Parts: sequence; C-alpha cells; structure tokens
Amino acid sequence: MLLDGTRVAHAIRAEVAPRVAAFHSAHSRPPALHIVLVGDDPASHIYVRNKERAGTDAGLRVKVHRLPATTTVDELLGTVQALNADAECDGILVQAPLPRAIGKHGTERVFDAISPAKDVDGFHPHNVGLLVQGRAVLKPCTPSGVIELLERTGQTIAGRHAVVIGRSEIVGKPMALLLLQRDATVTVCHSKTPDLASTCARADVLVSAIGRPGFVTPAFVKPGAVVIDVGINRLDSREAAVALFGANHARLTGFDERGSMVVGDVHPAVEAIAGAMTPVPGGVGPLTIAMLLKNTVTAAESIAR
Ligand code: NDP
Repeated sequence: MLLDGTRVAHAIRAEVAPRVAAFHSAHSRPPALHIVLVGDDPASHIYVRNKERAGTDAGLRVKVHRLPATTTVDELLGTVQALNADAECDGILVQAPLPRAIGKHGTERVFDAISPAKDVDGFHPHNVGLLVQGRAVLKPCTPSGVIELLERTGQTIAGRHAVVIGRSEIVGKPMALLLLQRDATVTVCHSKTPDLASTCARADVLVSAIGRPGFVTPAFVKPGAVVIDVGINRLDSREAAVALFGANHARLTGFDERGSMVVGDVHPAVEAIAGAMTPVPGGVGPLTIAMLLKNTVTAAESIAR
C-alpha cells in the first residue's frame, strides 16, 4: 500500500481554506507568513519558492525577505525583531540552513529571537518545551505531517513499536515525541547506533530521516511494517540511479529527461516487503508544506484571540 502524501496534504489544505477565509473576513486581511531567506543555497531557494507558491495558493499573504549571504547575525536579529513587532505578520519562518558564517551559536540566537507565538516551524525552545509536555500548539511541520499521514490513512500507532532513524531537532526528535504521545513504544537510532538494521527490523512503524539515498534496505524492514521515508536526496549520477533502481526502471525516464532525480532514504526493494510505505516524491514533502499552512493560520487565529 502506497501512503499518498499528496492526497492527505490536499485534505489538510481543504480544511485550512475556510479558516483562511474566516480570518480574512474578520480582520480585513489574510493571515500573513513572512519567510526570511539568507544567501544563495539552491535547495533553500527551491523550498522557499514552493512554500511561497503554496501559501499564496491557499490565500495567505506570503512575503519573502531575501537577504545576502553576507548578512550579519545582528542584521538578522533586527529583521526578526521587526517581524515580531509587526502586527500584520502572523508567522515567521527563517529558512535553514543559514550561511556557514552565521555559525551554530548565531543560528541559535536567530531562531531563539522568533516570537514563540509566530514560530510556525515550531523550533523555538518554548514550543519545543510544550511539545515535550504534549501541549504544543505550533509543532514542527514534517513530523506532525507524518502523524497526520499515519492517522488519516488508518495506520495504528498506539501499542506499536516505532523506530525513528535520525535525531535532528527538526525531524527525528520531534517525530519520536509525537509517536510517544500517541502511545507507540519508540526507539530512536542515529549514526552511533550499533546493529542498526536489526533494531529497525523490529519496528512496526519505521521512520527514516537520515538523508542517505537508498540506505534503508530490506534487511531493515520487518515484513508488513509501515515505512515512512522522510529523506530527500538529489541524485545527479545516472550510475547511482541505475544502482538503486536497476537498469530498466520507469523512474530512469524521469532521470534522463531532467539529468537528476529526487529519492528517499528507503531502497526501492523495500516496497516488496513493507505493508505500507511513502513514495519520494509525493510522500512526506507535500505534508510538510500543508502543515506549514495550517500552523500559519493557527498562529494568526491565536494572536488575534
Ligand atoms: P540531519 O542531517 O540534521 O540529521 C540526520 C540524522 O540522521 C542525524 O541524527 C544522524 O545521526 C542520522 N544519520 C546520518 N547517517 C546515519 C547513518 N549512517 N546511520 C544512522 N543514522 C544516521 O537531517 P534532517 O533531520 O534535517 O533531515 C533528514 C532528511 O530528511 C534529509 O534528507 C532532509 O532533506 C529530509 N527532510 C525532508 C523533509 C520533508 O519535507 N520531506 C523536511 C526536512 C528534512 P547523528 O545525530 O548521530 O549524526
């Protein structure tokens, strides 16, 4: 069974639409999402363009603040503080990663400066604390999108063993917390986990958020398990694409047309043994954007209240 993220994302967006319209008519303006994009990272530019388009299609006001790679931490903090104070800004998203020169400490200062009420990514320590306690309003978009996908496609979470590969602040850790809150027994794996494949092969629900193409092979998967592939990896080499899919796979046509392709962390051979799994593209990605739209409306409604 293929878990169709695009279909579930449409359903979420259809639920968001009347909330956007109601906010618009009550406040004589649409909910407003402000995205801060610093530097020239090509992937970030694509992600921001997709968020901008999806937000505009959903009836939000989306403003992208494009800043040069030379922007200092103080300048970025100034931008964030101005948006915090702007009564017509409901959601603030600073696109990660920030340029290397900003550094880890600078990045933390910038993300910590975002008003928790406008933190539509759900990364602020205040919102992370609420998430740990199971009472967050603004939750990180990708893991909460995964939960929506599981629940809306009828996958059982409670009482099942969930294994999450990856422990990042934006995917792995919040994913584990959200699964725990829904009564799964959760194991979190990372690059130092021994016997990774055999640990994963005990999972009823396996979530991979690593960023390595085809890493999760059938040896990682219990027959019948639900497999969620969060990874987004661009392949530029035809040899690598053939090694992953075999020489005659239909997806190679797409590679030949574009000269590259996007694949997940999960090897295509897993399809034969998983009970249900997400495709890449068309799985978790569309849900991440749908949840961003939902968080923006939620933030706007909460601030206005
Ligand atoms: P990070 O690089 O921040 O984290 C990767 C995690 O994977 C780390 O915890 C790391 O372990 C772990 N890891 C790396 N290699 C291995 C390995 N060989 N064995 C076990 N664990 C390993 O990535 P993100 O969490 O930000 O993103 C993960 C993937 O998800 C990426 O492909 C990203 O593009 C994608 N993504 C997709 C989204 C979507 O909308 N679909 C949204 C966000 C991300 P350690 O901590 O020990 O280093």
